[in-house]
Amino acid sequence: MEREPLVDGHGRLIADLRVSVTDRCNFRCQYCMPAEGLPWLERDAVLGFDEITRVVALLSTMGVHHVRLTGGEPLVRKDFPRLVGMLSTIQDLRDLAITTNGFLLERDADALVAAGATRFNVSIDSLQRHRFHELTRRDSLDQVLAGLAKLAAVPGVGPVKVNAVALRGFTEEELPAFVALARTSGYQVRFIEFMPLDADHAWTRDQVLRGAELHAMIDSLHPLVPLEREASATARVYRFADGQGQIGFINSVSEPFCGDCNRIRLTADGRLRTCLFSLHETDLREPLRAGADDDELEQIVRDAVWRKELKHHIGEPGFIQPARTMSAIGG
Ligand code: SAM
Ligand code: SF4
Repeated sequence: MEREPLVDGHGRLIADLRVSVTDRCNFRCQYCMPAEGLPWLERDAVLGFDEITRVVALLSTMGVHHVRLTGGEPLVRKDFPRLVGMLSTIQDLRDLAITTNGFLLERDADALVAAGATRFNVSIDSLQRHRFHELTRRDSLDQVLAGLAKLAAVPGVGPVKVNAVALRGFTEEELPAFVALARTSGYQVRFIEFMPLDADHAWTRDQVLRGAELHAMIDSLHPLVPLEREASATARVYRFADGQGQIGFINSVSEPFCGDCNRIRLTADGRLRTCLFSLHETDLREPLRAGADDDELEQIVRDAVWRKELKHHIGEPGFIQPARTMSAIGG
């Protein structure tokens, strides 16, 4: 049944949902999790596959046609391909994307594509083994690259993007290798500005390597030509002028794209978040488990979305970092 489109109090249509399927992770990236991990959610606090599917199906009838599954690390969730299969039967979805650190892709790539995953983002911050180890606290670059290669070889796989968090004093040295990857592999490589969602609350603005700086460095090596930016796209995408590959910049801190943000998020414990930096969440798990019908759930979602934040306030006086880290929100 088709419902009214989902719209916020600033007139933005909501079309994109990020679902965190677990808060757990097999990596400990320095900008995301502390070395010792975090207190994980109890098993019964986490939404079950039927509950996730019900929320996604309902939202899809309100115009939320793009769904990305993330975490934590989504592939550590038991039977994850089965969830992908359940979601891919929802008629109104246009795409079903996955963001992963790639560690388990060698095992799961075939099953995920077969289950209906249409796009993949694989996060890789360094193409040098020791630096990858330093940043993720796991000596796993070879495993991740093997997973990426396995994924790319699956017949019928959709677009694969490689995402790197851009950190001043770290990422500069990675540029030649990432540029070479973008120019030779067919993966779109994208740099994401470091955001204040780290567990250690150690973020400072001067650690953000801005997209404009990266663009200038890359452009001086290989000239870049901008591609038209799709409305609501997070990335500014360029192609190399000689036609070999694409590169993108997600400048969330230096050039926020809140004005046309069409995204909402569902945490693993069933909280709806209307912004990465929300200080307020709306519980869907309790009404789901108390037997709320779709009309009641719809109203709860609409009320929450109506209050969606106009923009984030990173760098402004009074900015408060959310209690949840990126891993617990679902990036
Ligand atoms: N574990 C999966 C992965 O790493 O791809 C999915 C979850 S992870 C939270 C999603 C994305 O958020 C990754 O690309 C990661 O690099 C990014 N991320 C995590 N913490 C971040 C931060 N503080 N600033 C910017 N991006 C961050
Ligand atoms: Fe895990 Fe992804 Fe966070 Fe790294 S960025 S610790 S892989 S959730």
